[in-house]
This record gives sequence, structure tokens and C-alpha cells, in this order.
Amino acid sequence: MRQDRHFSGKNDLGDAIAVLEYFRALGFERLPLGRGWPGKTSTVPDAVRRQAPDVSPGVCDSAEAIRPEAAADEKAGLLSALRAEIGDCTRCKLSKGRKNIVFGEGNSSAGMMFIGEGPGEDEDLQARPFVGKAGLLLTRLIEKMELQRKDVYIANIVKCRPPGNREPEPDEVATCKPFVERQVDIVRPSVIVTLGKVALQSLMNNTTLRITASRGKFLEYQGIPVMPTFHPAYLLRNPADKWKTWADAQKALERMQHGRS
Ligand code: SF4
Repeated sequence: MRQDRHFSGKNDLGDAIAVLEYFRALGFERLPLGRGWPGKTSTVPDAVRRQAPDVSPGVCDSAEAIRPEAAADEKAGLLSALRAEIGDCTRCKLSKGRKNIVFGEGNSSAGMMFIGEGPGEDEDLQARPFVGKAGLLLTRLIEKMELQRKDVYIANIVKCRPPGNREPEPDEVATCKPFVERQVDIVRPSVIVTLGKVALQSLMNNTTLRITASRGKFLEYQGIPVMPTFHPAYLLRNPADKWKTWADAQKALERMQHGRS
């Protein structure tokens, strides 16, 4: 039996809070007053009501703090605009050997963002990040967290495949990194997981960081917690370390869901 409660429209505080929380659950940051107040026909699920916090005068401030209704669309638009700006990029020498630019993909409002080093052969062919054997391992990790790839955002430090799968060189990283920085700035995830040494050092702008010493402990980038872990390609060669990455992923998931780990 459906448990939704019809919103009466009466101005009691409980209903007001429930409505605010209802719209927050739908992704609204502000009440869509200009687009038609829900009125008597709208419903507020009991589950939503139960989650309503005990707030009083701050209720209007709470409405301001709710995420923008159009945030996801707006972010998707900004990401599309960034991709268009990159165009058929020849800003660095990696352009010479690539077949496709691998921009990145996923949820523009993702709570978790994965950042790798750069595309490999499969990624270069398909123009999608992490779709080869290492990508399959990352996908399994995401699914083990009870998420799907479409729930997260996945990108790389460099968008074009380094020849022979070598590491990207410092000048290539320096040229391409502003793009991933802007992706982070648009998505603003709750947590970033860096995959491997190059992603860690490049994002943090610190070449002294070592993955074995850094993994499992949160760093911070632009106010966003960063969990360094191994690159899936490393885990294919060293499967015994998979449990370490799983432990790192659980910490990241906890931080995303509850703001702690
Ligand atoms: S790696 Fe980045 S900067 Fe270099 S050509 Fe590709 S998109 Fe442009």
C-alpha cells in the first residue's frame, strides 16, 4: 500500500520542512516557485518526512542550501562546453599518436570521481575511459560499492593516449591537466579517488608523493577529499593488492555517503 502523504498546503512547520526535504531529495536547491507550486495534488512520501531535520527558523536558509534544481543539466552543459573547447586538440605532442580524445564520462553531479593517468589502447579506440582490462577491474570495484559507472564520473589526467602506454611526460601533464581540473570544478564531487601514481602526483601537484605511502589516507584538493589508491592496471599485475584498493574504496564510499571514514 502506497505510503505517500498528500501535502495539505497548510502552513505548519512540519509540512514546510517536509516539502523542503522532498525537493532536496529530488535534486532541487531552491523551491521551484516560478514553475508552479505543487499545491494539493503533490505528495510528500512518509519516508521523506521521516528524514526531515529538526530545524526551525533556519528553514529558509535550508532552502537556499539545497542543490540547484538545474544543477545536473547545468553541469552537463558545462562539461559539453569544455569538451567543445578542447576540440580536436593539438596543444601537446600526444595529439600526434592518438586516434581519439578520451574526455571522460559519467554523472555530471557524481558524488565520487575517479581520476586515472591517461587512455590506453582500448580507450583510445573507443574514446571512453577505463574500458579495457583495467577498466573492467575498475567497473567491478564500482559495482562492488553498489554503484554503477553511470553514478560516478571517470576522467584522466591526460586525454590522449601516450605512445606505447608510457607515462605522460611533465609537459604533457602540464598542458592537459587544466582540463581535468575544470572537470573537477564542474562536477564538484564529494570525494575523488586517484588511480595510480601519475594521477596522484599530477592532481596534487607533488612529485614526491608515493602511492604505497599515500594510499588509504585522505588528502585534499580544492576542499575535496582525495583518496589515493592503486591503478587497476597495477592490480592486474599484483592481484594480491586488490584488497588494499577495496579498503581504500570503502573509505571513499563512507566519506561520500556520510562525510567521514
Ligand atoms: S593530451 Fe590533452 S593537451 Fe595534449 S593533445 Fe590531448 S587533449 Fe590536447
